[in-house]
Amino acid sequence: MAAQVSSLQIHRAAQLLKDAGRTVALTGAGVSTPSGIPDFRSAGSGLWTRHDPMQVASLSAFRYDPVRFYAWFHELAALMRAAQPNPAHLALARLEQAGRLLGLVTQNIDGLHQAAGSRVVHELHGNLRQATCVRCYRAYSAGGFFDEYVDTAQPPRCPECGGYLKPDAVLFGEQLPYAAVRQADDLFRQADLVLVIGSSLEVTPAARMPLLALDRGASLVIVNRECTYLDQRAAVLLHEDLAMVLPRVAEEVLRG
Ligand code: ZN
Repeated sequence: MAAQVSSLQIHRAAQLLKDAGRTVALTGAGVSTPSGIPDFRSAGSGLWTRHDPMQVASLSAFRYDPVRFYAWFHELAALMRAAQPNPAHLALARLEQAGRLLGLVTQNIDGLHQAAGSRVVHELHGNLRQATCVRCYRAYSAGGFFDEYVDTAQPPRCPECGGYLKPDAVLFGEQLPYAAVRQADDLFRQADLVLVIGSSLEVTPAARMPLLALDRGASLVIVNRECTYLDQRAAVLLHEDLAMVLPRVAEEVLRG
């Protein structure tokens, strides 16, 4: 019975995508968990229950003790380096390439959307591709530093001044990248269909962004394991495995 219900819902989601002119997707941690990256709010994720993230992954904690931050981050960094895009990432990239998706706004820092081939990706919480020296503020492409850190567990240092490099990922208590937030807002204001994928809509400003479209009459599709505060406004609501659902939706849309 459940399978039939979701087939119908998948068909309805595909129909909304076909009918929409300007679809925008918001993605959260749930889109990366099938790639082996734990959601820091999910229960039983040892990485986050052994340490209070506020104690190690805040900007002030980083400034005070970058060595402790990098010791804590190492396990997650290794998982992120090893991670590959999953069928949900690939389905979103295919929809964009087919002109069915204007772009993505993501809360993830892992770069898996770009690895899957998505081009318009606004990263609200920054990324690991770049890093900045906390002493002299020189900016670096992080790739080589990141690889060496994952291999050796040694915190990356600035080649110029020896200060610690901080990844350009947003830590707790840190300002979000202004340009990404503004571009994401602009994207949602244009949307006539919003897809919320793998986000429980608990963290602002991402949580409020769909409202920029919904309050102008846009439709909403939610694919997320947990409930969200916008469930009641969704035209299609799928509390299902997104790595199963999204490829089926994309398949139907791209079939024409
Ligand atoms: Zn420096």
